[in-house]
Amino acid sequence: NVVTRFAPSPTGYLHIGGARTALFNWLYAHRFGGRMLLRIEDTDRERSTQGAIDAILDGMRWLGLDWDGDPIFQFSRAERHREAAESLLAAGHAYRCFASAEELQQMRDLARAEGRAPRYDGRWRDRDASEAPAGAKSVIRLRAPIEGETTVEDAVQGRVTWQNKDLDDLVLLRSDGTPTYMLAVVVDDHDMGVTQIIRGDDHLTNAARQAQIYKALGWDVPGMAHIPLIHGADGAKLSKRHGALGVEAYRDLGYLPAALRNYLVRLGWSHGDQEVFSTEEMVAAFDLKAIGRSPARFDFAKLENLNGRYIRESGDAELADAIQRIVPEPMAPELREKLILSMSGLKERAKTLVELIDSAYYLTAARPLVVDEKAKGLLGEEARERLRLVVPALEALVEWTAGSTEGEIRKFAEAQGLKLGQVAQPLRAALTGRTTSPPLFDVMAVLGRDESLARLRDQIG
Ligand code: GLU
Repeated sequence: NVVTRFAPSPTGYLHIGGARTALFNWLYAHRFGGRMLLRIEDTDRERSTQGAIDAILDGMRWLGLDWDGDPIFQFSRAERHREAAESLLAAGHAYRCFASAEELQQMRDLARAEGRAPRYDGRWRDRDASEAPAGAKSVIRLRAPIEGETTVEDAVQGRVTWQNKDLDDLVLLRSDGTPTYMLAVVVDDHDMGVTQIIRGDDHLTNAARQAQIYKALGWDVPGMAHIPLIHGADGAKLSKRHGALGVEAYRDLGYLPAALRNYLVRLGWSHGDQEVFSTEEMVAAFDLKAIGRSPARFDFAKLENLNGRYIRESGDAELADAIQRIVPEPMAPELREKLILSMSGLKERAKTLVELIDSAYYLTAARPLVVDEKAKGLLGEEARERLRLVVPALEALVEWTAGSTEGEIRKFAEAQGLKLGQVAQPLRAALTGRTTSPPLFDVMAVLGRDESLARLRDQIG
């Protein structure tokens, strides 16, 4: 019975790397009919905030990554972590260490002088607590093996081996009785019944430490999969500079959750050369073996293109709903109707919902329209003269539809010896304030007779 978990530290928003880790855990659980649990690793009391917890939960909900059961808060389990440390102490797999801060500093200084990584030298490994100076504080350290190797069988990295002499006796419980991160993760994953860990490969070295703790506690090590981190287009580790924004920023920029999921799943995982996946297809095809060992590169243009594709393939009413979710004011029913009527023309060009909203500007624009610079170029003296002539012809129309306005404008262009574009372009500029828009005659139909004629008169002056 497969159990995965996503274990974010609530010290900031749900960033793109975290979202991908959550997605992989979610896919793996769904692939095998298992469960994905959510553990909030809030043991860093100074840096953990309620705002970050909310942002992570909201981001996951928005992305459609639901978790099973209630979130588990790591800090609330501190008593259980202490118990585990005490049990290791009682079994002789851990010991009290009374080394002072000065002694530890000396060990670090020595390591620096010798040009190697600092390590605790094990000076309390075989000493008795009775030898401690009166009133000295102690931590509990793991009695890690000195000889041999520690091996982790990783589904992505393969078999990874560490020499035990390179891994010192790590602290399990601090002198104030609080558990270390390393202990808490092991105890929680065990108690939660986690069968498969999937996380960033920045945790790979921790996996060796954790494997030693599992062994000391007599527990089985869950399956491990350490996925390469995401890098920017320049190959450096992804940072804010590369667009490593919180998931809510992608929502506000007008990305669709399905498009972002699709983009994220391809960051480091592949299934032949298939690029586009429905959620069902992702679940059916997901596999840890197909995760690559080299870092994926975050490519904003690719994400945009994929999002544009999802927009084009979305239903018109569905897009109106998605727009409503990111604009602050509730949309009036008439506006919603106009938006839906225009959507097939609008969605052809938009890569994001924000672009879609921008291109729908003409639907809500107050008169006189703000005409952008390019569109102004289409409304020179000659063009305005054409508009002056076409307006009376349009005013005379009995019926105002896309078909009737088209017929009239074609007739007018022909009579004047003009190409259709020579009339249509200034019309578009005057009606929408832009040089691109959905098909002109649809625009005229959606705006209606009065609004269309009023906008044309505004430009004629
Ligand atoms: N809380 C850790 C992080 O956010 C994850 C720990 C884990 O997955 O084991 O990087």
